[in-house]
Amino acid sequence: MNKVRIAGHHYHQLKHHLLPGDGLEAVAIALCGRSTHENNHTLLVQELLLVPYNVCYERKGDYVHWPTDVINPFLEKAAKKNLAIIKFHCHPGPGVYEQFSDLDNDSDHKLFKSIHAWVNDDLPHASCIMLPDGRLFGRIFSHDLSIEPVHQVLVAGSDIQVWNYGLENHLMLEDLQVRNMQAFGKKTVKLMNQLKIGVVGCSGTGSPVIEQLKRLGAGTLVFVDPDFTDTVNINRIICSTRKDAEQQIFKVEVMKRGVEEVGMGTKVITFAKHISNRDVVKELADCDLLISCVDGSEGRHILNLISSYYLLPFIDMGVKLDADGHGGINNIFGTVHFVQPGGSSLLSRGQYNLDKLAAEGIKRTNEEEYARNQYLANVNESHPAVISINMQVAAIAVNELLARIHPYRNISNADVDMVKVFFTDATSYPEAFADPCPFFSKLTGKGDIEPLLNNPELSDVSAAA
Ligand SMILES: [Zn+2]
Repeated sequence: MNKVRIAGHHYHQLKHHLLPGDGLEAVAIALCGRSTHENNHTLLVQELLLVPYNVCYERKGDYVHWPTDVINPFLEKAAKKNLAIIKFHCHPGPGVYEQFSDLDNDSDHKLFKSIHAWVNDDLPHASCIMLPDGRLFGRIFSHDLSIEPVHQVLVAGSDIQVWNYGLENHLMLEDLQVRNMQAFGKKTVKLMNQLKIGVVGCSGTGSPVIEQLKRLGAGTLVFVDPDFTDTVNINRIICSTRKDAEQQIFKVEVMKRGVEEVGMGTKVITFAKHISNRDVVKELADCDLLISCVDGSEGRHILNLISSYYLLPFIDMGVKLDADGHGGINNIFGTVHFVQPGGSSLLSRGQYNLDKLAAEGIKRTNEEEYARNQYLANVNESHPAVISINMQVAAIAVNELLARIHPYRNISNADVDMVKVFFTDATSYPEAFADPCPFFSKLTGKGDIEPLLNNPELSDVSAAA
């Protein structure tokens, strides 16, 4: 499968440039990172060059002639780092011309022949067209100039836009989804059926998230959680039983069993591992959307890294229940964050800090050092937790996902980066965080690099051997 992903801010620049309203064609070029996983090859927009209208030789309603040497700086970078080039142009209408024209075929053939000659790494590049409503479709040019369609374009913005082309329809039972279709229509339900969603953490908030996703008809679910079911989990993990705890069944396996028993046709991939593993990161990078149901900083940090490197939107949730252990409750609140690549991050929003992150890493990888070093913050202590609180926060998170793929709110998704719910005040409110994160926004669309996510723990040992 060939895929293209674009961060929301890049998509808006692109749309503004390609569809300025003058009815004439325009061109933009993208420099892209790459992600390969099994049969999937994804191009990840890193940097855009909006070819100025006034340097084009000719702009017409069905044709644009532009100086191709403007892309030379991108070609040099692409050749050095195995990056990809995407040529974008528009078919501004009137009407929808959803195909490559004869003129497009001629100009693309010339352009990609010279791109392949320059970059010369046998890896594909792409040509995409934007239609008047902002929809994108495209094709891939391999090194022998053979052509294949782009099967999916995903915009990871405040609104998550996904366009799938020519995918074999993954068989999900429609009769089990009638009420979902009555609510959201066939288009959104079909999109849910095609989405691959990674859920990291299958415990107190993870299991109610999974309960909802499986009944909303998610196409493929990837579960990540290293722990087995414990007796202290039974009070809140959906589908878990005392027998699971006695037999020490992995939480991811309990979740998988629950999805399969519903019988809607959702595919499940499980990892009974910490997220800090190469195969886990690669599988999550291949998802369309990630959901963070973890405790602590390390999982959140890695999810934010995957979101930035691989241009994926992600939703994070947390619950804080402050009780004295004798029945006295001081405060209960929950937060749900929506994070998009190139925007503000969980780090810049103050949801974790680097000291805690370091302490957790040391606790996981070096138990002795953690015990010896009294300056490391206490992490992963056991907290009070109650199913009704967790379920409400998990429901807000899944409704957040639905709002992103099917905007239904009276306010723009761009104005909601976080929803905070105060149980003690019976109130909730949205908040926006406008400033991009200085750390994570530099990583936008980098894709596969070695070591993965620039983290030595994730390096490819097989390649080194
Ligand atoms: Zn065209």
